[in-house]
Amino acid sequence: MTVYAAEWLLPIVDGPLANGWVAVEDGRIAGAGSGPHRDAIDLGRVAILPALVNAHTHLELSYLRGAIPPASRFLDWVTAIMAARRAQPNPDASEILAAARAGIQEARSSGTGLVGDISNTLATVPLLREGAMPARVFYELLGFSAADPAGRVREARAAVAAMTDIGADVRVALAPHAPYSVSPGLFAAIREDLDAHPGEISSVHLSESPEEVEFIHQGTGGWRDLLVALGVWNDEWQAPGVSPVMYLADSGFVDSHVLAVHGVQCSGDDLSRLRALGTTVVSCPRSNRHVGVGDPPLETFYATGVKVAFGTDSLASVADLNMFQELAAARRLAPRVSARDLIESATLRGAHALGFGEQFGSIEVGKRGALIAVQLPERVGDVEEYLVSGIQPGMIQWVASSHLAPSHLAPSHLAPSHPRT
Ligand SMILES: [Zn+2]
Repeated sequence: MTVYAAEWLLPIVDGPLANGWVAVEDGRIAGAGSGPHRDAIDLGRVAILPALVNAHTHLELSYLRGAIPPASRFLDWVTAIMAARRAQPNPDASEILAAARAGIQEARSSGTGLVGDISNTLATVPLLREGAMPARVFYELLGFSAADPAGRVREARAAVAAMTDIGADVRVALAPHAPYSVSPGLFAAIREDLDAHPGEISSVHLSESPEEVEFIHQGTGGWRDLLVALGVWNDEWQAPGVSPVMYLADSGFVDSHVLAVHGVQCSGDDLSRLRALGTTVVSCPRSNRHVGVGDPPLETFYATGVKVAFGTDSLASVADLNMFQELAAARRLAPRVSARDLIESATLRGAHALGFGEQFGSIEVGKRGALIAVQLPERVGDVEEYLVSGIQPGMIQWVASSHLAPSHLAPSHLAPSHPRT
């Protein structure tokens, strides 16, 4: 058993503990508390907290970092990324795999220890396994005019079943892309599959752009034009006539096992509905701004009481995979939400949302020792506020995780006295 002591310990299930310590044995947390501990390795002026959870990213789009400029209209951004993806249709292209691998390392070095990864190809599954990054991979299905939805789902299931030797830490599930790109029949078939796999988690991009709201409400606007232009318009489709959230809630697709990603356009009624269903909203504020859909109503999310997790979205719409930068963006958008709530969203809420809540997201006995230590400045008034101010990877170390042997850690008596930048 190894015991680590720090100026602050953030159990998440409790407020920060000054002079805290945490004991780790065989990769699991064996105890935690505050006050002097005789056997502790003192890590000094750091805050120890659970690794962050990135509940929504697309690692296979990492090769598009910086390739698609910010847009003022969502459809302009969608058109640009579709063109970029058409230019490299091979998911096994070495540049795609290398960038995804680098993305996993980047996430880890900025303190992320669990990801929700959207994949259209399953190409990231072996990479996550090889990179020892626990993940829920959402195998994403699209099809607005899919002829045989049940067949599509069967095929996707078979592809998942064919992925052997991926270990218990990378779990693959099926997920529909969005209400404007998936037919009602395909939604129903995916829901049926979800019901047949108890405990499994799905995810859907929901209520992201004003164009989506118009299309689901009235069947008009840029989305319809795009579907027609792509040759996938379905003449039998009828606009549900309600908000995207009400559409998927009324049809029974969304519940506590489905992540609602984005929610930027959610009304108060939408959020109340999601709260009542126990659905987690995964917010990606930096991406929302980049793709031209506006800022998420984060303070309203928290005021409504809906569960909130955070994600970076892909490197096609965000500069890095550093969840601490996502937290800083959230802090700017929601000054009235407590730093504690924001940090809980980026740890325990995310872990629960991805179905890994028993293992990750808080410092509790029996959970995995996936812990990080963040270097603190000399006088930090409020450690939680500091942690949502934009921590850079150079200030983060892994503590006694299952990924790194303890020898990788520099105890404070060996560490330089200035911040490691
Ligand atoms: Zn996304």
